[in-house]
Amino acid sequence: MDFRDVFIGKRSFKTLIASAIEVYSRETNGALLGRNTTMNIDGVKKKVLSIKDVYPIQTEKRKRSEVSHGNIAAFERFLRAMRSLKTNIVGGFHSHPHPYEGNVLSRSDVEFIRDEIKVMSKIGQKKIEGGWLEILISIRRKNYKRPGMSKWYMCSYVKKIRCKVRTQKRVGYDIIVSAYWVYPKKIKKKKTQYGVKEAAVYVPWIIE
Ligand SMILES: [Zn+2]
Repeated sequence: MDFRDVFIGKRSFKTLIASAIEVYSRETNGALLGRNTTMNIDGVKKKVLSIKDVYPIQTEKRKRSEVSHGNIAAFERFLRAMRSLKTNIVGGFHSHPHPYEGNVLSRSDVEFIRDEIKVMSKIGQKKIEGGWLEILISIRRKNYKRPGMSKWYMCSYVKKIRCKVRTQKRVGYDIIVSAYWVYPKKIKKKKTQYGVKEAAVYVPWIIE
């Protein structure tokens, strides 16, 4: 398995952040479209999975602690449309609004992804069976005592990206973006067991 690091393009990054803020304090989710490529990152040529587009799914039943497909028929229509349009789904994304437990995928996240892989391979997206990339957006609303202008700020951790967005004079969001590969690890009693491995996230530093 090729555990590539991930590059999120400007537009996709903004969509991820905005869709997590939109539904706060519930979870957002959707699909990631992308392809493998070689890019120059901080002066070094690197093989990455480049996220070209993100698609927030509109028929999801969003709740505080989990997202489920509110409408399986709609999800299948979406997948069939994507297949016909020759788009390459490489995984998904979802958010964990505060109070979240760490910036990791939960057990039910991995089970949900396993089910998505099943539905997708039924529809003919076989590629995803080898590994699914999940972007996790941990988000916390912040209230500021001192009023400020709307603005934003970003910094990089070892693998994650942290982003603070001030949306109103006294309101902002503190967001951590991380990425995980969910991949078939072994088969036990004819059932595939999945492993999780974190990938580094890169974004363009100039996003205006
Ligand atoms: Zn989750």
